[in-house]
Amino acid sequence: MSVKDLEFIFLGTGTSSGIPVIGCSCPTCTSSDPRDRRLRCGAAVRFTDPNGLPRTLLIDVSPDHREQSLRHGLERCDGIFITHAHVDHVFGLDEVRRYNSLMRAPIAVHAEPEVTEALHRIFQHIYARQDNANDSFVADLYDVVLEPLRPVFLHGLRFMPVRLLHGRLPILGFRIDAVDSKGVPLRDQPDPLPLAWCTDVSSVPPGSWEPLQGLNTLVLDMLRDRAHPTHMTFDEAVSAADSLAPSRTFFIHMSHDSTHQELLQRMPPGMTPAWDGLVLGTDTNSDL
Ligand SMILES: [Zn+2]
Ligand SMILES: [Zn+2]
Ligand SMILES: [Zn+2]
Repeated sequence: MSVKDLEFIFLGTGTSSGIPVIGCSCPTCTSSDPRDRRLRCGAAVRFTDPNGLPRTLLIDVSPDHREQSLRHGLERCDGIFITHAHVDHVFGLDEVRRYNSLMRAPIAVHAEPEVTEALHRIFQHIYARQDNANDSFVADLYDVVLEPLRPVFLHGLRFMPVRLLHGRLPILGFRIDAVDSKGVPLRDQPDPLPLAWCTDVSSVPPGSWEPLQGLNTLVLDMLRDRAHPTHMTFDEAVSAADSLAPSRTFFIHMSHDSTHQELLQRMPPGMTPAWDGLVLGTDTNSDL
């Protein structure tokens, strides 16, 4: 028995400002193409587990999470994987309290120790709720420690944390494989697995190339054309994708420097700018 009906949902594909940028009248920010509206980055994996139960796992929880969740009808959360504690990736953590109520269960937040520490500092009203003046409706979360290359097995999936560099900040990407009951990756993975989510990356350190081999789908940061100290440019992202040689690549964390159409026209075969609402998996990618 293995996972079924898996959908990989791109909840958001924009850089930290979100697109349109407040007060900006550039062609991307004023575009009528819905693919040029990019909320802050995050993803959901929705599937049926080997016991036939519905599951949803999140990668990051952006400040736009509420809108993203409503768009896709998310109704539960069986765990959250955090790449790093920047505002655009974690400031929606408050919103998951609704999943707590729907499921009547606490939610595991998987993160590296420094990230967990930051979350406790930022969300004191959640993590130190005993200090709140009034007891109110806050999220119910617990910590699970992540370490690079130490896999986490959840409901028939394996999440492998992979070290990435975001400028000088070490952060995590995640490689997701479907596994058998012994935790061994299946020979026949359901589409779009194996998939790796590599957001906010400026370079892939030497030890992380190997765990990113043999991917069906690579999701990779590609901020813009101009150089940036903490994100890959168009050329850097295309070159990294070329070297990793997945079956296909989707780019995320895009700025307003280019429209979807402009980016699409410049992409080499097998590479596509992602867009908000893109769903890979069960019967949904027929238009790609
Ligand atoms: Zn970011
Ligand atoms: Zn703009
Ligand atoms: Zn960041």
